[in-house]
Amino acid sequence: MNNNITSSRLALVAAVTMTAGASALPAQVKYDSTKTQIVFLGTGTPFPDPQRAGPSLAIVVNGASYIVDAGPGIVRRARQAAMSGVAALKQPNLKRVFITHLHSDHTLGLPDLMYTPWVIHRLDPLEVYGPPGIAAMVHHIQEAYKEDNDIRINGLERQDTTGNVINAHEVTGGIIYKDKNVTVTAFPVPHGSWKYSFGYKFQTADRTIVVSGDTRPSDNVSSACNGCDVLVHEVYTEQGYQQSDSSWRQYIRSFHTSTKELAEVATKGRARLLILTHQMWFGDSTDTETSMLAELHKLYRGRVVSAHDLDIF
Ligand SMILES: [Zn+2]
Ligand SMILES: [Zn+2]
Repeated sequence: MNNNITSSRLALVAAVTMTAGASALPAQVKYDSTKTQIVFLGTGTPFPDPQRAGPSLAIVVNGASYIVDAGPGIVRRARQAAMSGVAALKQPNLKRVFITHLHSDHTLGLPDLMYTPWVIHRLDPLEVYGPPGIAAMVHHIQEAYKEDNDIRINGLERQDTTGNVINAHEVTGGIIYKDKNVTVTAFPVPHGSWKYSFGYKFQTADRTIVVSGDTRPSDNVSSACNGCDVLVHEVYTEQGYQQSDSSWRQYIRSFHTSTKELAEVATKGRARLLILTHQMWFGDSTDTETSMLAELHKLYRGRVVSAHDLDIF
């Protein structure tokens, strides 16, 4: 989502988002370390809602974590999850991230993920997968923190020189990662004028999970899901669209997916569970999480839930 919001719109989004956030629900499922699970680290948008950190989630399997996106707040949310018993999200285990695209709301937590776990003793490098441009972003962040790294390593902290190594992997689609726990496939999604924006599919021994990233409605998402266990998808309400002005309408139709459009994507993809994240409300005070779910229930017959930070599925 872009940050080019006028001040009046920002005020409107603020009012609405706070209303929606106030109805936070408890985690849907308790953590079970014997299964592949999804831990939502941030379900937000560029709007700095204190209840919704920037977009990020972790696929957790066999004690390992596979993070998607690095919105602001990610490392502190991971710490909260670890304190609740998700050992795979302890700081030394934060060592892989798959970035969907380079919008700031999805990457502002990247320097945090690069350096906070290192400072508190991640010894392994951080592996960063993402679209072309991710290597330059990582390089520039490294340059920005050069003095910090020098002082931590050569000063009295005597910090190690392995945990601050960041390996950037630029990918363009197909199977981009495989280990004993998971196979990760990247597929292109249409997100406005971005040349590269990806969704990711995670296949483990017990689950297939598809994460849409930011996208307008796309058959690529339905095809990637194809009967998947879980489809995690971004969404905005039709009500918000109807209550927006024409320039904003043009932007959201090109960059994002409405409830009505998502009902089609998830039906075509035969998702066994649809999880909403990066929820966007652009309308008045009646445009809420409740009305978002009501819009979907009218058009979509499958199971659907709206995620909150630290929910586990
Ligand atoms: Zn975006
Ligand atoms: Zn976004």
